[in-house]
Amino acid sequence: MVQLLDGKAMALQIKDEIANEVRNLTAQGHRAPHLAAVIVGEDGASKTYVANKEKASHEVGFTSSVYRMPESTTEEQLLETIAFLNNDPDIDGFIVQLPLPKHINEQNIINAISPDKDVDGFTPINIGRMVLGEECFVPATPMGICTLLKRYNIETAGKHCVVLGRSNIVGTPAANLLSRKGFDCTVTMCHSKTKNLKELCLQADILVVAIGKAEFVTADMVKDGAVLVDVGIHRVEDATKKNGYRVIGDVKHSEVDAKCSWVTPVPGGVGPLTIVSLLENTLKAYKRR
Ligand code: NAP
Repeated sequence: MVQLLDGKAMALQIKDEIANEVRNLTAQGHRAPHLAAVIVGEDGASKTYVANKEKASHEVGFTSSVYRMPESTTEEQLLETIAFLNNDPDIDGFIVQLPLPKHINEQNIINAISPDKDVDGFTPINIGRMVLGEECFVPATPMGICTLLKRYNIETAGKHCVVLGRSNIVGTPAANLLSRKGFDCTVTMCHSKTKNLKELCLQADILVVAIGKAEFVTADMVKDGAVLVDVGIHRVEDATKKNGYRVIGDVKHSEVDAKCSWVTPVPGGVGPLTIVSLLENTLKAYKRR
């Protein structure tokens, strides 16, 4: 019988823990942690993500601010905003919502973020520290995946974990973290040039899918009893829904779930844990200061 890695319920529990801690801090006369977000342009999904992060910040008692900049913002203007946020003593951590408009070089922007306020864990310094196993801010989505596996006591040591995708924000850090001491998985990381993808997936005790292709993983690619983590988020039109769309993942859950021992639903799996991990990183940044 498949069991759910219920990210929604776990996120509520962790938010409760954070809110308690913030209440204790403010009761002692300390200010609340402050998370800021920068959003450039009008991308609908990005707006939703930022709104969700703002809502979650308020739920746990953080101060939150959002810097909304027009699509026409130049790289220089965005760098100025980042310099301001780096130096603002009231802000503990901030994120720049990706993707950015095409005329802005994302890596230049990420490189400009102070590693001490980089609660998304995207700067080279934090990535480097993560790879070395040093204290750092871990990127929120892979951190969320690790939290789910850990809190559900999923056995990982010596398991073959296959990660589909090698992006800097999901696949690569997830593969790194799961191969480290503590998780001790044997990790295979796959990408678009991987030749025997189906055979590799079929060997996975733990399959982490972050490929960005709707319902790509089908039942014939998954071993019986596998633990399945679906990172994918895709909006598809659905006239029966109030907002006109529903969210699906990178896995065809209708046929795959029955084969698994544990599975993350979409929505309500990795997504809520991503936001919570950002809150955890912000609390950490606050405490460090
Ligand atoms: P991405 O940057 O587009 O990376 C996708 C990765 O999948 C790339 O490494 C790519 O390989 C690989 N890939 C693409 N097609 C493939 C194929 N046919 N066979 C094997 N590998 C293939 O995506 P991402 O940012 O990592 O995001 C992945 C998914 O997670 C998306 O659906 C995104 O919306 C979702 N996401 C969710 C959360 C959350 O909070 N739940 C957070 C972030 C992202 P190459 O490197 O060779 O191109």
